[in-house]
Amino acid sequence: MAFDYEVGDIVKLKKKHPCGAFEWEILRVGADFRLKCVGCGHQIMVPRTLVEKNTRGLRKKTEEK
Ligand SMILES: [Zn+2]
Repeated sequence: MAFDYEVGDIVKLKKKHPCGAFEWEILRVGADFRLKCVGCGHQIMVPRTLVEKNTRGLRKKTEEK
């Protein structure tokens, strides 16, 4: 399943961050994504292929109410 990743979206990954959060805010897209953990604010760089493989859901910023 293909997702349309955009800066500002919240991506839900299969793997849990040590702080307990599953959701990451997308700060940058490209060959590598920069993600910020919504739980603790920790930032990571992840290859796009890894993000795509581990995505369980994508919440568009435009859908946030
Ligand atoms: Zn975290």
